[in-house]
Amino acid sequence: SPSGSGVATKTGANSRVFVFEVEGIRQGGNSDQQTYPIRRSGRVLITVPYERMNQEMRRISRLGGRIVNIRACDGTSPDQSSTTPENGLQSQQSGEQKKPMTQAKVHTEVPVNIYKPKNPFVGKCLSSVELVQEGGEGTVRHLTFDLSGGDLHYVEGQSIGIIPPGTDANGKPHKLRLYSIASTRHGDHLDDKTVSLCVRQLEYKHPETGETVYGVCSSYLCNLEPGADIAITGPVGKEMLLPDDEEATIIMMATGTGIAPFRAFLWRMFKEREQNPDYQFKGLAWLFFGCAYTPNILYKEELEELQRQFPDNLRVTYAISREQQNKDGGKMYIQHRIQENADELWQLNQKPNTHTYICGLKGMEGGIDEGMSAAASKFGADWGEYQKQLKKEHRWHVETY
Ligand code: FAD
Repeated sequence: SPSGSGVATKTGANSRVFVFEVEGIRQGGNSDQQTYPIRRSGRVLITVPYERMNQEMRRISRLGGRIVNIRACDGTSPDQSSTTPENGLQSQQSGEQKKPMTQAKVHTEVPVNIYKPKNPFVGKCLSSVELVQEGGEGTVRHLTFDLSGGDLHYVEGQSIGIIPPGTDANGKPHKLRLYSIASTRHGDHLDDKTVSLCVRQLEYKHPETGETVYGVCSSYLCNLEPGADIAITGPVGKEMLLPDDEEATIIMMATGTGIAPFRAFLWRMFKEREQNPDYQFKGLAWLFFGCAYTPNILYKEELEELQRQFPDNLRVTYAISREQQNKDGGKMYIQHRIQENADELWQLNQKPNTHTYICGLKGMEGGIDEGMSAAASKFGADWGEYQKQLKKEHRWHVETY
């Protein structure tokens, strides 16, 4: 039976054991219920063998409890290692004076549609920098626009619309295209007066003629010169918002320009601490990034600098399809990295303040689901059902295009 001592014991050679920290559990009402000693924090510790995790979670939830933390207590215990992402968890566990963790965070001050397509804000291009290094494929540019003189403001995880000049094949003005914002609300110049994007020039071979076709808006943006005017709408989007919880675990999965919102997240978490006294991130951020070649790793140097500065709070895992091999000898896609880390990801997702974000190419979700399904089934859970629950709790966020 679960012990309430807080001391985990192994129940068998192959059995991993976890300690759940639970709050709000109702005790003593029912004869078939366990009772647990309540700690000073008002929480109880429940020791659970791996095989019973899901059953136990359901039971806790029936008793009105909320799991605020899960710790592994076997050879992979986070207490013992120094560079695993659970170090983030570790730091969350210290100190009893924790703020209550919020699950479905209500975002009250999220601006939307300040500028509509009929009346866009006309800003100026301040800079355009190539992000693909020598030897990489394609063109991806980091663009920064001046917003001064207007009222456009936004939060991390939102997108803006860009209206390319000119008309389409039917002679109608071009429709807007959406782009994820790659800067924090303060902008790259920290003066709250700019917005930045990360834009890949769409380029493909026409399926019939074989001619190279370039995308309208992405080409316009990638060729934009500093000083040029730019018509901007929005902001829009509430799917990819970052929770206010400073102790959250934020798992990010990106392919290519899908990194844009995560650049904004990471800059907010780690680079702009002075600008955000009310958001001092202490949790764990784990970025999975997939691309074809090493020179296609966007913002690589800055990411690695952040990792050096915050080794306990930031983990970055690359999947470089044309250079790395998966365990079966095939190309290494992001889904293979998810599969490799699926147990850990599954465990992290048990914490009520873990959020997973997926951004980038349409189609990347399939592989991620496969990886998570495999992990879930090991724990006796059905991924489809579990994911539904995560979505309901606003902890599983997807924006693919
Ligand atoms: P268009 O000229 O509109 O051409 C696109 C069309 O070309 C497609 O509709 C399709 O018909 C055709 N096409 C495309 N590829 C092929 C192919 N391989 N074979 C045959 N036909 C093809 N993009 C970014 O670069 N960065 C971002 O951060 C970003 N964020 C986004 C966020 C959201 C919420 C959404 C919805 C999209 C985002 N996009 C982003 C994509 C962006 O909105 C545009 O779709 C993209 O730049 C292409 O627009 P375009 O005008 O250049 O292409």
